[in-house]
Amino acid sequence: MTDGHGRSISYLRLSVTDRCDLRCRYCMAEDMHFLPKSAVLTIEEMGDLAERFVSRGIRRIRLTGGEPLVRRGIDMLAMRIGAMIGHGLDELTLTTNAMRLADHAPMLVRAGVRRINVSLDTLDPHAFRHITRVGDLDVALRGIAAARDAGLAIKINMVALAGLNEDQLLPMLSWCTANGCDLTLIETMPLGEIEQDRSDHYIPLHQFIAPLRAQRAIWPIDKATGGPARYFAVEDSPVTLGLITPLSDNFCATCNRIRLTVEGRIYMCLGQDDHVDLRARLREGGDVDGLIDAALAGKPRAHDFHIERKSVPAVARHMSATGG
Ligand code: SAM
Ligand code: SF4
Repeated sequence: MTDGHGRSISYLRLSVTDRCDLRCRYCMAEDMHFLPKSAVLTIEEMGDLAERFVSRGIRRIRLTGGEPLVRRGIDMLAMRIGAMIGHGLDELTLTTNAMRLADHAPMLVRAGVRRINVSLDTLDPHAFRHITRVGDLDVALRGIAAARDAGLAIKINMVALAGLNEDQLLPMLSWCTANGCDLTLIETMPLGEIEQDRSDHYIPLHQFIAPLRAQRAIWPIDKATGGPARYFAVEDSPVTLGLITPLSDNFCATCNRIRLTVEGRIYMCLGQDDHVDLRARLREGGDVDGLIDAALAGKPRAHDFHIERKSVPAVARHMSATGG
């Protein structure tokens, strides 16, 4: 599949639920309203669409959300998609907060998942509770350990938050080194209304990593994934450090992905509202190929993020709705 700007599209992010068992401050409001069941694709509909996308040329699928492991039937979906590995699909991955990972890790391995991303913004239990509002750090760490024991490779995603985890980069790097994980840092993006002004906690990554640079050299390495991260090696560390800088340094030129929401909408860009709705056509028993073509033709060249005091979010929907 090729989009209207000549970019080859081979990566699908599939949001399997907008619900979550955490309430991370940068992601959701405390009293989030979730979608009614009728608006949400069934597990079977998601499986059908995933197969359609793979037949159209998608080679990698990432399950995300919301928290994918709270979705009932996630095991069936993972098994169904995993069965396409080697038959058009190269890889199935998952992004999770690890709260339910201890229970699900063996199932993921059985489904063919080999690596996962885990969101972990701090190793300080109090800060973890504060950032997630309800989370228990021990549960997350036990989930990560179980995943590692089951044989999954793990990349930690850490959102850089001024005043909340600026002191955590060096401890996190040491922890990743000790636990065999890679580490990717993410700038907070203006998606969906949250209770606070996001600019209170926004920090550009060049500033967030200054304490690391003061101690160790980092240098770019060649690891092109078509994703938004740029990768670096760190002196005296086996950890690959990824930096995702949507605000301070736009990453759209090589974007190879599309996103399917739990409502069955294709969003061609995380930072734009344009979308195509597959659900109605799917439920009428119609052919979704023409809609997929329309979505490809309409994929925007770039997102339009900016973060300023009191500015409204670039898009109204939350990251949890589109699939992070
Ligand atoms: N619940 C899972 C998790 O937290 O890993 C998967 C979904 S979550 C929306 C995916 C990723 O998006 C997480 O790494 C999270 O930290 C990140 N995220 C959520 N809201 C964000 C925002 N406003 N800006 C930047 N990253 C965000
Ligand atoms: Fe849930 Fe992930 Fe959003 Fe945190 S970042 S509230 S874990 S969806």
